[in-house]
Amino acid sequence: MNNLVFHDSLTMHYIFITGGVVSSLGKGIISGSLGALLEASGFKVTCMKLDPYINVDPGTMSPQEHGEVYVTEDGAETDLDLGHYERFLKNNLRKEHSITSGQVYADVIERERRGDYLGATVQVIPHITDQIQNKIEAVGENTDIVLVEVGGTVGDIESLPFLEAIRQMRMRVGHKNVVYIHLTLLPYIKTAGEMKTKPTQHSVKEMRSIGIQPDILICRAERDLMEQEREKIGLFTNVPTRAVISVADVDSIYKIPLVLAKQNVDKQVRDHFQLPAQDKPVDLTAWEALIAKEREMTPGPRIAIVGKYINSKDAYKSLIEAVKHASITLGKETHIEIIDAEKISDKTVDSIFANFHGIIVAGGFGERGVEGKIQAIRWAREQNRPFFGICLGMQLAVVEYSRNVLKLPDANSTEFDINTQNPVICLIDELQNRSDNEPVHMGGTMRLGTGKDHLSPGSKIHAVYQASCIAERHRHRYEVNPDYIEPLEAKGFMVSGRSDCHGYVDVIELKEHPWFIGCQFHPEFNSKPLVPHPLFIGFLQEAYKTKTSQSMEAT
Ligand code: GLN
Repeated sequence: MNNLVFHDSLTMHYIFITGGVVSSLGKGIISGSLGALLEASGFKVTCMKLDPYINVDPGTMSPQEHGEVYVTEDGAETDLDLGHYERFLKNNLRKEHSITSGQVYADVIERERRGDYLGATVQVIPHITDQIQNKIEAVGENTDIVLVEVGGTVGDIESLPFLEAIRQMRMRVGHKNVVYIHLTLLPYIKTAGEMKTKPTQHSVKEMRSIGIQPDILICRAERDLMEQEREKIGLFTNVPTRAVISVADVDSIYKIPLVLAKQNVDKQVRDHFQLPAQDKPVDLTAWEALIAKEREMTPGPRIAIVGKYINSKDAYKSLIEAVKHASITLGKETHIEIIDAEKISDKTVDSIFANFHGIIVAGGFGERGVEGKIQAIRWAREQNRPFFGICLGMQLAVVEYSRNVLKLPDANSTEFDINTQNPVICLIDELQNRSDNEPVHMGGTMRLGTGKDHLSPGSKIHAVYQASCIAERHRHRYEVNPDYIEPLEAKGFMVSGRSDCHGYVDVIELKEHPWFIGCQFHPEFNSKPLVPHPLFIGFLQEAYKTKTSQSMEAT
């Protein structure tokens, strides 16, 4: 690929993506897809997100409401959109790529206390808006184009300082170096049989009232826009018809880079930035091949994801995507169901899982649903059903084995029972000094971000990775208590991965089980559609074997 790098010109190029009409239009997916398209056109691209909430980061926000907390390699707890960006882009992101109002205000207040603004009245404009621009400028080293997604919807009070900051950015870095993209919805009114353009017109009007004229409009709708509809929208919003882009609902989000390419969005961006024409055509072959593979999938296994956030598809976003990536690679369409852990008991467990070929117990915090997850793990262990425990899922596999095989009925994690006589999972501090009833602080005490692990030769996990040393991302406070490793291992349990630092238990497996693996890290954060994760591939392969052997038994 032609390696165009323009950063030596000292001018950075920015694309700001705002949303209008309604939320949940998939701004993150559009931003990531546009990033993938621009990468395929030879640019060095990165994405960042500006979130208007006051929380310093989403680490303490409920996944039920806000979706999963995504973790970057350098250990930032971020908005799930960073997961979309990383899945679409080649390069991974850092802490600085996720900015919240809370962070901006905290910085400005700290500087004010330090006396940096002595004499001045500290105000939203210019102090907050300047700090936002400084943070945007801090990203993008070694990059040609920074795509900046502004969270929220135009018209929200909260996003105003961000919109003002991005308006000013154009003056800061020059008109031609900034592209504004606005994403809107065209609702289809059944009774009129028409797609309505009015909300889009109003949304652009709102943008213009704060001084931003979108250069490109991306219109989400149930079906593709017709030429007259694009012309009409263009006329009312002052956007050239060719820059009114139609993105209809698609069955796979990984088609979006191709949808944008077909309408020459990359060329329009290049023209706006006045960058030289490419000497090679855009190379989207990897994405095309992925889509072709996805289209040709045959029925695959049924997988249960046991969790407690059941009404939010976004709470397990990276996990679900990681399963999809592995499914596409194997050419087997996986049926995924989220199972409510609170509904699982010794009475219901058989009927709930009988029709599944593999069980994933997801990560999580807090006691709700824990006993149901333990029931699911026991069932998978006793029925020889492929089991994959992630973070809390691994910790509960240790609890389950200790209770039911080591016969320690009160074995638990101190997260759920601070007084247990058998704290098989506990805080590392507690190992040194179990001075109980100390409150656990909710910030800054976690093992966060990428860490290295050593895998035991001859183990299942070693065979899965085909490597002795791996690097994966963590987000947890509790660890396996080393006092219990010996008794556990004497009964068929195996510690097959340990952290490079401190030798913490990071992978467990069962010797006498076809596929029972638990990991303390989150492999789902390292899975991309074009680079699927070996653990998910290994798990699905085994689940597919279970499916085939079951159907053979049935015939
Ligand atoms: N609650 C557990 C811990 O803090 C597990 C966290 C998780 O699953 N991400 O260690």
